[in-house]
Amino acid sequence: MINAKAYATHGPTNPLGPFQVKRRSPGPEDVQIDVLFCGVCHSDLHTARDEWKNTIYPCVPGHEIVGRVVAVGSKANKFKEGDIAAVGCMVDSCGRCESCLNGLEQYCEEGFVATYNGRGPGSENTFGGYSETIVVKESFVLKVAHTENLAAVAPLVCAGITTYSPLRHWSIGPGKKVGVVGLGGLGHMAIKLAHAMGAHVVLFTTSPGKAEDARRLGADEVVVSKNQNEMAAHKNSFHFMLNTVSAPHRLDDYLNLLKRDGTLVLVGAPSEPHPSPDVFSLVFKRRQIAGSLIGGIQETQEMLDFCAKHGIVSDIELIPIQAINEAYERMLKSDVKYRFVIDMKSLKA
Ligand code: NAP
Ligand code: ZN
Repeated sequence: MINAKAYATHGPTNPLGPFQVKRRSPGPEDVQIDVLFCGVCHSDLHTARDEWKNTIYPCVPGHEIVGRVVAVGSKANKFKEGDIAAVGCMVDSCGRCESCLNGLEQYCEEGFVATYNGRGPGSENTFGGYSETIVVKESFVLKVAHTENLAAVAPLVCAGITTYSPLRHWSIGPGKKVGVVGLGGLGHMAIKLAHAMGAHVVLFTTSPGKAEDARRLGADEVVVSKNQNEMAAHKNSFHFMLNTVSAPHRLDDYLNLLKRDGTLVLVGAPSEPHPSPDVFSLVFKRRQIAGSLIGGIQETQEMLDFCAKHGIVSDIELIPIQAINEAYERMLKSDVKYRFVIDMKSLKA
């Protein structure tokens, strides 16, 4: 066993603080990665505070991990010591079901093993990336082609893939009008990726102060969603909308902006349900509402390679781990530009 320094919370209203975790010694198919950077996803906050009512304590969040490989099992051959590698939201899955065989491990029929708050091999609780080191089955470890700005690469393996996967699945490209709802960690990656894919991108935000940033990130237009006139101007015009909002809200406002056969994809996962949409918003134009969960391992690698090729990284605020509780409070106020990333060196301080 390996003892590792980490940050954990012991209950829904407790702050995060120093904690020790035990990692298994790397098995033949494992790699051990010393965590250099870990992004802070809103899912970390939902989980730390038991907002989804499934948290096992103590809880060590973190599923946007970039680090350096420090040990490689005898049967692991994708990585060697010293390589830079990434780990996202999953560390294992059954590998046998139809979804796994289709490279869609996130939809594993037996449930994938989440990087944190998941069930590990001995069905123990998994601990995530707010930690100095992690041991992961090699087939769930991603290669990083970026050679610089590694802190800004970390958010790609959750915020990046969660937005890339639906954009690809719904064939977004030139000629498509795409709405992105919410400019946070996921939203800012959605803008960058949809823009790089050649779509016409419109951001919907509750924060008028983010408009200039949105244009810099690649949005062609910005709509302040509280402004009825601005919303009405886009009625019946979108092929696709990606909703990244972390809190419940009226979906009809966005459904009514879709063209005939347009799709509203929900990736935001609020702890309380959205008000049920009006059936008339759906039936008159055969509109669809769908959901999407992160992405498979192969697609996550494809996304990382796409980002490296297009020079895409996340816009980040680098923080020491000691600032994590304050970062959560700021995230709740939609006050982050546009992803906090923990510099894991700070854990040794
Ligand atoms: P985030 O950085 O906090 O961004 C969420 C954004 O939503 C905010 O910046 C804000 O944008 C908007 N927003 C927040 N509260 C709102 C409210 N009451 N009404 C309207 N808009 C509001 O969060 P994130 O890390 O991007 O994650 C977003 C959601 O996706 C979370 O629920 C997270 O758990 C979920 N998630 C899902 C998956 C998946 O696989 N489906 C993966 C990762 C995360 P504006 O200021 O622009 O309005
Ligand atoms: Zn996440």
